[in-house]
Amino acid sequence: MEEKKGFTITYEYGGNLYVNTTNRCNFNCEFCLRHNGSGGSIYTHNLWLTREPTREEILADIEKWDLSKYEQLVFCGFGEPSYRIEDICWVIDRMKEHGTNIFTRMDTNGTGSLIHGRDIAPDFAGRFDMVSVSLNTDTAEKYDALCHPQQKGAYQAMKDFAKELCKYVPKVMMTVVDTIPKEEIENCRRICEDEVGATYRVREYIED
Ligand code: SF4
Repeated sequence: MEEKKGFTITYEYGGNLYVNTTNRCNFNCEFCLRHNGSGGSIYTHNLWLTREPTREEILADIEKWDLSKYEQLVFCGFGEPSYRIEDICWVIDRMKEHGTNIFTRMDTNGTGSLIHGRDIAPDFAGRFDMVSVSLNTDTAEKYDALCHPQQKGAYQAMKDFAKELCKYVPKVMMTVVDTIPKEEIENCRRICEDEVGATYRVREYIED
């Protein structure tokens, strides 16, 4: 099916302002909202981009809103936002220069360092208040079957990245959805809290 594409960079959802930075992703998760084709998903916006916005366009699109209305500014993507880490850092730096004070978050699959071939965790220092990393499951085998990462070793790389991020970001959260078995939820809690040292969150599954 041919998707209709648009140019929605920012959109409001649940009291936050979300920033759609990219459609690129190195995963092909079974549960990805992009599989519905429309790009509309639960957010009602078409998040397929005709092209990636430039960093100047991202900044202008954020700054057109009254940012005092929102709890968080969330860098995500209809894809994996860490592809745009350098541009996102540039945007946040310009916002700080302009005197904007807003809680910043990134939602990521946690493989940005694998994508870029360098440790990107230090880039988050002083720029992000929170990062949410999708842990998804408790073993590399299940992770590969569920997320179909392009790179080998993605599960370990994701955990290593989350651990490294804890040095630079006040709140690092790892998430699973509440549809996985109870035992798996508890295994993931141990991985998150004991192995990584992050905050654990079991998210409610939202039907698309
Ligand atoms: S990491 Fe996110 S955007 Fe990428 S395939 Fe998985 S759910 Fe979709």
